[in-house]
Amino acid sequence: MVSCLSHLECAGCGRTLPASRLWNLCPDCGRPLLARYDLDAAARAVRRADLAGREPNMWRYRELLPVQDLAGAPILGAGWTPLVHTRRLGEALGFRSLYIKDESLNPTGSFKARGLEVAVARAKELGARALAIPSAGNAAGAMSACAALAGLPAHVFMPADVPQTFRAECTALGAEVTLVDGLITDCGRRVREGVEAHGWFDLSTLKEPYRIEGKKTMGYELAEQMAWHLPDVIIYPTGGGTGLVGMWKAFDEMERMGWIGSARPRMVSVQASGCAPIVRAFQEGQEHAELWQGAATIADGLRVPAAIGDFLILRALRESGGTAVAVDDGDMLEAVRLLGAHTGIFACPEGGATLAAAIALKEQGWLGRDEAIVLFNTGTGLKYSHLWR
Ligand SMILES: *Cc1c(COP(=O)(O)O)cnc(C)c1O
Repeated sequence: MVSCLSHLECAGCGRTLPASRLWNLCPDCGRPLLARYDLDAAARAVRRADLAGREPNMWRYRELLPVQDLAGAPILGAGWTPLVHTRRLGEALGFRSLYIKDESLNPTGSFKARGLEVAVARAKELGARALAIPSAGNAAGAMSACAALAGLPAHVFMPADVPQTFRAECTALGAEVTLVDGLITDCGRRVREGVEAHGWFDLSTLKEPYRIEGKKTMGYELAEQMAWHLPDVIIYPTGGGTGLVGMWKAFDEMERMGWIGSARPRMVSVQASGCAPIVRAFQEGQEHAELWQGAATIADGLRVPAAIGDFLILRALRESGGTAVAVDDGDMLEAVRLLGAHTGIFACPEGGATLAAAIALKEQGWLGRDEAIVLFNTGTGLKYSHLWR
């Protein structure tokens, strides 16, 4: 066994639970569960220098991932995406060290593959027999792909107005797709009904402990790709916040293993003006975010009116000295164009949002010319062709 997983711990009440069976939320307080590892054992099992010879995907960090039997696991190979130093774009905007972590190169075209690959492999290992997810976009496709590879039935619930590409991907990958009249929250209710009636395993964001484990590998990769010096600022398009919370967790784990020091990037959450619950809560000094009424944006990954991990996102933003920014849909698309014309990367609107935020923060003097800044392009623009003509 290579995984150093030791137990699960509730992010709300701190209760610990055995990791040897499937869990969703904490049975006591209903908050998310987090995976904990024997980090001393992990530090003995793998040193930073050992990583260089390992596979070019996120399983290079297998000691820090929960899957026990890797040989038999359904693995698509997500991760180890390029960290691009965008010299032309940086020069145009007045940044010396502007980087893009290009997650569009993952299987199924988005970073959702990281989280779902780990969650599905672990669910299968622990005996799940059918999987379900509510999703307005990339998570559904990633889950469908992972379930297909695992040979497990996949039940996808999407809002009826979801762009056709996202739906087509799931159907082509063999998932059973149900369109729901309503929002992602209504889809979530349909999943819960299926869980009760048929015993499906619910893979909703942060409602099981392992999607965040896949997403945290972005933090490990950033550190390794930047020679173990984290950037000054990370700008992240935030929906459910799994990636941001996951990276924050990864930094903590790496420090405890002696891989990095105590310096941390300032973490920035970007949301759409039409759905910005985290930005509002951050500005108002709240610990939790209130549900955003009438959520509307072209950035499907950001159309999340309420995040169950809101307090974890807000905590990371504040502890890091970061901030939260809302961006208009029009500015996102303008930024996609600017980014594309200077880098050759066709970004998703969520990726464009990070550039729009960087421009705004530079104008405010919040970002300096010499800072090392990482933008996350979380998915491919190819799935959003309906936005262009
Ligand atoms: C899901 C998604 C996001 C938001 O990710 P979280 O980690 O849930 O905040 C951002 N961009 C894209 C393309 C997505 O699919």
